[in-house]
Amino acid sequence: MNPDFINTGRYNNGVTRRGFTAACIAAASLHADERVRTLRGTLTHSGLRTADGQIVKLDGDEPTIGVLNDKRVHGMELEITGQPSAGGAVRILPIHKQGMFVLKDGKKLFVTYWCDICSIRTYTPGVCLCCQDETQLDLREKLDN
Ligand SMILES: [Zn+2]
Repeated sequence: MNPDFINTGRYNNGVTRRGFTAACIAAASLHADERVRTLRGTLTHSGLRTADGQIVKLDGDEPTIGVLNDKRVHGMELEITGQPSAGGAVRILPIHKQGMFVLKDGKKLFVTYWCDICSIRTYTPGVCLCCQDETQLDLREKLDN
């Protein structure tokens, strides 16, 4: 196992390494990838601040990084799922695998962006591909519409 991965266990709310390993095995059975882990914290401009005050650097694909850099999402509580990456960072699952949620009012919400004019939904901030207006952050319980 990657030693960096074990070390990041200290970010996990002071959970013992043994507990962390058990969590890891649970995650592996869900995701069929033993290195995948899930953690929660507050998104800041420099990473995810966990409950014990550690900052975990986040990485991901381009749409994911777009969300991480969105100031409207900063300060929100996130649950992210990803794999350990260089320098103790966590690389969030590709955006289509949905490894990133906002936790709000006891719910897990998908991070989406919506253009009112065109009724077009996207998953990263920016201008609408159709009308070039800035899309609005739209946290949703489901991705049905
Ligand atoms: Zn539009």
